[in-house]
Amino acid sequence: MTLEFTRRQLLAAMAGAGIGASLPLRAESAMDNNGKRTRRKDSVGVALVGLGGYATHQLAPGLQLAEHCHLAGIVTGSPHKIPAWQEKHGIPDRNVYSYDDFDRIADNPDIQAVYIVTPNDLHMPLTLRAANAGKHVWCEKPMAMDAAEGQKMVDACRRNKVQLTIGYRLQHEPNTRRLMAMAREQPYGRILKIRADAGFNAYDDVDPAHKPWRRLPQHGGGAMYDMGVYSLNAARYTKGQEPVAVTARQEVRRPQLFDGVDETMRFTLEFADGSVAECATSFGEDMNTLRADCERGWYELSPFQTYDGLKGRTSDGQTFADAVPHQQARQMDDDALAILRGTAPLVPGEEGVRDMRVVDAIYASARDGGQRIVL
Ligand code: NDP
Repeated sequence: MTLEFTRRQLLAAMAGAGIGASLPLRAESAMDNNGKRTRRKDSVGVALVGLGGYATHQLAPGLQLAEHCHLAGIVTGSPHKIPAWQEKHGIPDRNVYSYDDFDRIADNPDIQAVYIVTPNDLHMPLTLRAANAGKHVWCEKPMAMDAAEGQKMVDACRRNKVQLTIGYRLQHEPNTRRLMAMAREQPYGRILKIRADAGFNAYDDVDPAHKPWRRLPQHGGGAMYDMGVYSLNAARYTKGQEPVAVTARQEVRRPQLFDGVDETMRFTLEFADGSVAECATSFGEDMNTLRADCERGWYELSPFQTYDGLKGRTSDGQTFADAVPHQQARQMDDDALAILRGTAPLVPGEEGVRDMRVVDAIYASARDGGQRIVL
């Protein structure tokens, strides 16, 4: 394969992915005299639900940078957090809720979308409440504890005629979108094998008695729910097909820390054409690579799931590393535009359900090591 041919293929793939095509939608936003962005009249008002690490350090700053949505409200179970959030983001008292009085949000015209950023077990019940309140729902990954819960969320949003999107930020990210386009264009021939590993080494220095929700089964703890969905989602978008069968193996190196949840999960996805994806996720090993081996070459993104700095390279020496100013701002702007235009969101609830079906099969296989058909 010549380099020129590959470049042409990549450009076609980028066009197919909407890279570049979506840019004109992001008109230069107006700035006031102090250099602050002025809010568009049709900006979507968003309430963040759960003011933890991700909401504080990624989503709230992302909402400050976004053009088509803004932080309008907060829902929290921690009253001590409220004054600082109100002051920093100019949130009026009427837009502050607790989990107990959250349903009153139905009467609040300042808030059109609710972004759920809580422990995983709360994603489903909070989504149902937000949908019943008539608000669009943006929900973090993993969307739910299993596929049945995920389907309930999809159904509730459909019934209430609101959008449901899952916070798979990478599917909005340009280097990832290039890989998704390559799944369709196949510039190196058919994909034979994928490797998707996402994890980090953590918790070595923690007191085993202290159990945050990420290590508790009842809250949806464990590496698979947390980081494994990146490997799984990436394997699916890199192949551009759904797996038909799964085998999985769970490992626990530090049982004092991981009681009833997986510390490491290794799983193999099989696709209908005989190709496979070897995937891994862990709270005990650093890993961050996505690679596709094809008939006539290979390509990879490494890292593939950081907040910035994704780097791609191919077997014929090409490299790519498109910058995006802020992944979460991009994601939320895309989702806000889908609401404003009444178009289908890029990552709808159904995409989360497809992952949860495989997650169900992974956990089932990990129990006895047997292969599971993905239903
Ligand atoms: P944190 O533990 O930092 O925050 C979770 C927040 O949820 C808490 O601060 C709390 O907010 C609220 N909460 C409500 N009930 C509980 C409870 N029983 N126990 C603990 N917290 C509770 O988690 P993260 O922010 O890291 O993760 C939240 C979600 O975001 C998860 O689903 C995670 O998978 C996802 N995530 C996604 C990322 C991505 O890149 N897409 C990255 C990081 C996380 P309050 O006190 O305000 O009620």
